[in-house]
Amino acid sequence: MTDSNLVFPGQEVASEEEYLAAEGTFAEDGVVYASQVGELVLDDDNCVAKVISPNPPNVLAVGDIVYGVISDVRNTMATADIAGKEGVERTLGGDTYATLHVSKISQGYTDNVENELRKGDYIRGKVTVIKPALQITTKDDHLGVIKSYCSKCKTEMVISKKGDGLFCPECRYATPRKLADDYGNVKF
Ligand SMILES: [Zn+2]
Repeated sequence: MTDSNLVFPGQEVASEEEYLAAEGTFAEDGVVYASQVGELVLDDDNCVAKVISPNPPNVLAVGDIVYGVISDVRNTMATADIAGKEGVERTLGGDTYATLHVSKISQGYTDNVENELRKGDYIRGKVTVIKPALQITTKDDHLGVIKSYCSKCKTEMVISKKGDGLFCPECRYATPRKLADDYGNVKF
């Protein structure tokens, strides 16, 4: 378990032998998983595992480093659910929906967001705009995808030999990505 107890959708949070799924979690084959971004609460009195959605609000500022999950990918942009801010244990609330414009995703020229980010990717980003809507960038070396699961078999992806994308050790599916320089080494 990490300091902040921040968990992401699909993350394993408990065994069904010990805890039943409740708010913000679901059970499958005896394992309890998070169904939303939030703070994990293991309630020993009631033997339930809950994931509490972020609140109260925690104000973000331009330049803040944030963590989130890609929620959608479109032609010219991606959207992300922002789950936390670096260095702050309390999770975020309020407007935690952010957009990434295609020009703010990677250093090189990109006309296809799908070559950089995919739905479900865990990312580290930097806040560039607060109002009227939250915008983030993943352009720097330390920004981008920090963890990803194979879209075909759900295995955790590893960095490809060339270093420019991801590779599934299970089904050998390869796919390009804008990776953070510490992909696969980030603790949650
Ligand atoms: Zn796979």
